[in-house]
Parts: sequence; C-alpha cells; structure tokens
Amino acid sequence: MRLILLGPPGAGKGTQAQRLVERHGIPQLSTGDMLRAAVANGTDVGKRAKAVMDAGELVSDAIVNAIVAERIDQPDCGKGFILDGYPRTLVQADSVETMLKARGLSLDAVIELVVDDRALVKRIVKRADEAKAAGQTVRKDDTPEVFEERLREYYKKTAPLIGYYYAKGQLQTVDGMASINDVTQQIEALLAQPATVE
Ligand code: AMP
Repeated sequence: MRLILLGPPGAGKGTQAQRLVERHGIPQLSTGDMLRAAVANGTDVGKRAKAVMDAGELVSDAIVNAIVAERIDQPDCGKGFILDGYPRTLVQADSVETMLKARGLSLDAVIELVVDDRALVKRIVKRADEAKAAGQTVRKDDTPEVFEERLREYYKKTAPLIGYYYAKGQLQTVDGMASINDVTQQIEALLAQPATVE
C-alpha cells in the first residue's frame, strides 16, 4: 500500500503515520525526519537544509525529491510506504508520479487531514511543551513564530496539492480535528474501501 498523508504542519500526519506503520507493517517516510537526520549527521544535504528549516521555509524540491527517490528503493519499502510531509509542492507531486511510474507502481490513497488552523498553533505549543516535559529537545521550528511561517508556506505551496489530487479523483478527506483514535478509524475505513484510485 502506498499512500500520501496531506495536511498542514501540526495536523497529526506523523501521529497517524506511526499508527499506520504498526497496523500495516510499511514504513513512514517523513521527509522532515530524514532532513532532521541529515542535519544531525552534518551531511551536505543537512548543511544546505538547516537554515531553511529553522526559518520554517521549504527545502528545495531537488533535494527532497532525490532523498525520497533513494528511500523508496530500500528493501523495506517493497510492500509500500506512507509519505508524511511529502509531496509539499506541485513539483514534488509530479515527481512522485514520475518516480512511481518508472517503477511500475501507483498510489493507493491520498488522504487529507482537514483541520482548523487556529487550533494548530495551540497544538504546536502543546507539542513543544510535551517534548520539553519528556526531556526531549524541542524542534527549533516548533515556536509559534516559525510555525506561522510554516503555515504560510503550507498555504502558498502545499495547499494547491489538494486541488491537484482532487482533480485526479484521488483525494479523500478525514476530519483531523477529531480525536487521534477517531482519525485513525476514519483513515482505516477509507483504506478498507475498494480502491477508487488509479
Ligand atoms: P516536518 O517535520 O514535515 O514539519 O518538516 C520540517 C521541515 O523540513 C519543513 O518545515 C521544511 O523546512 C522541511 N521539509 C520537510 N519535508 C519537506 C518537503 N517535502 N519539501 C520541502 N521541505 C520539506
């Protein structure tokens, strides 16, 4: 199963992706996690991405497309994968299509977590507080100021993907403001339906 989780930062894509990993035994491909790992490891990509990420802006399409193309060829992606935080631009969406086509693969689902923006800032503050309380490092881009920029980037560059997948008849939506368990159930219900996606 190959699916895309769409939605603004803080919508719960990562949380839901982790649940899908457990249930379906396929990996979560979070470009945010991969980029953070690159930054932590001080790789060339990490060095180029760090300032952009800290500012809440998007890393270049060329960088993320290359990371994902390499990642989906790993053996653990053989049964499928969950794309979390990717694609984030129309260029990336076209790239997904090209990548999959070249491998004789297709998408099974594109699921948008529909959320109320105003609630997102609160969620992000909570996420930072929880991380702090658990003794974890708080993401530099989880401050309200940087979060606002991430949200702007989302509306400018990522929200057009909703129209892109809708026009292709591939978009499905869930109420992302429901409880975590409820959102999981909504997603599982969509996945249990016979595939309508080409
Ligand atoms: P995330 O953990 O998905 O919120 O991503 C954290 C940051 O990594 C984003 O604010 C971007 O700077 C960068 N990033 C993650 N995924 C992408 C992507 N698909 N395209 C461009 N930048 C990305």
